[in-house]
Amino acid sequence: MECACGKKAVYKGQGGALCQTHFLDSVEKKVERTIHEYGLIKKGDTVCVAASGGKDSLVVLFLVNNYCSSHDIPLFALAVDEGIEGYREHTLTDLKTFCEKGKIALHVVSFKESYGKTLDEIHEKALKQFNKKPCTVCGVFRRTSLNRKAKELGATKLITGHNLDDESQSFLMNVLLGNMSHNASLGPVTGLSDNESFVPRVKPLYFVTEKETRLYCFLKGFKIDFAECPNVHLSFRSRVRDWLNQMESEFPGVKNSVVNAFLSILPDLKSKYKGKKEFKTCERCGDPCSGDVCNACKLEEQLS
Ligand code: SF4
Ligand SMILES: [Zn+2]
Ligand SMILES: [Zn+2]
Repeated sequence: MECACGKKAVYKGQGGALCQTHFLDSVEKKVERTIHEYGLIKKGDTVCVAASGGKDSLVVLFLVNNYCSSHDIPLFALAVDEGIEGYREHTLTDLKTFCEKGKIALHVVSFKESYGKTLDEIHEKALKQFNKKPCTVCGVFRRTSLNRKAKELGATKLITGHNLDDESQSFLMNVLLGNMSHNASLGPVTGLSDNESFVPRVKPLYFVTEKETRLYCFLKGFKIDFAECPNVHLSFRSRVRDWLNQMESEFPGVKNSVVNAFLSILPDLKSKYKGKKEFKTCERCGDPCSGDVCNACKLEEQLS
C-alpha cells in the first residue's frame, strides 16, 4: 500500500492511502479548515482547552496550541480531576508532562474541592439510591466545573476534544432516547444559547475520526495511557459506540454519513429549538438553569 507520493502508507481512509508525512498533514489541515470554516477561534479570544490527558485531548491541545501561537492568541489548559482511582491520576500525569514540555499553563479543578467528594466516593450512592450512572453524575459535574473555571480564568472559548466518532454516537444516542432537542445543541459549536454565563464550547476535531487521533498520537510519540475509565462499560454511550464500530468495520464510512446527515438537518433543528428554553438563575450558585436550582447543585445536595 503506497501513498500518492510513492512512500509507504501508514493509513488508509476514505480519501485513499497516506504516508506518515501526508497523514499528519491531512489531520492538521482538517483541523485548521474546521477552525476557519466554523469560526471556532478568532483574534481577541482567550482560549481554554479542556484536557484530560487522553489521546483526543492531547491532539486537540497540541494542534490548537500551535494554531494559537502562530496567531498570537492566548491559551491555557484546564483539567478536571473527577477522582477515579487507578485511571485519572495516570492521564493527569501524562497531561502535566505534556504541558510542561509545550510550556502550556495548566489548571486543575477537582470534584473533591468543588463538590466535597470524589466520583469514586459518590458512585455507589448515585447508582443505588438515585439510579444515576457514574457517567451521568460525572457529565453534569464536569460540564459545570469546566464552565465555571474557564469563565473565572477569562476564557472566551472552551475547546473540547470531541471527534467525529463522539459526535456520531451523541446524535444516535439522542435519536434512540427521543431527545431531538438535545441534538440541536450538537455541532462544531455546541449549545443553543447565547447566554453569556456559558463559555462557548467548540470542537476543532469535529471531522477527525478516533482512529486518526490514535494514529496521530502514536506517530507524534505522545505519551499516553490508553486505559479506559473503569466506569465506561456502564454507560449507554459505550453500547452505541460498540455498535457503531461494528457497523463501521462492515460498512466503512457510516460514521461519516451519520455526521453528514446530522449536519444537513442541524440548521432546521436550531431554528426549531433555539431560544425556546427560558433561563432562570440557580438560587444556590447563580448559574443559569431552567428550574430554580441547577442540575449540579441538585446532584451535589442528593449525593452529599
Ligand atoms: S467514562 Fe463516564 S465516569 Fe468515566 S470519565 Fe467518562 S463520563 Fe466520567
Ligand atoms: Zn505521501
Ligand atoms: Zn447551582
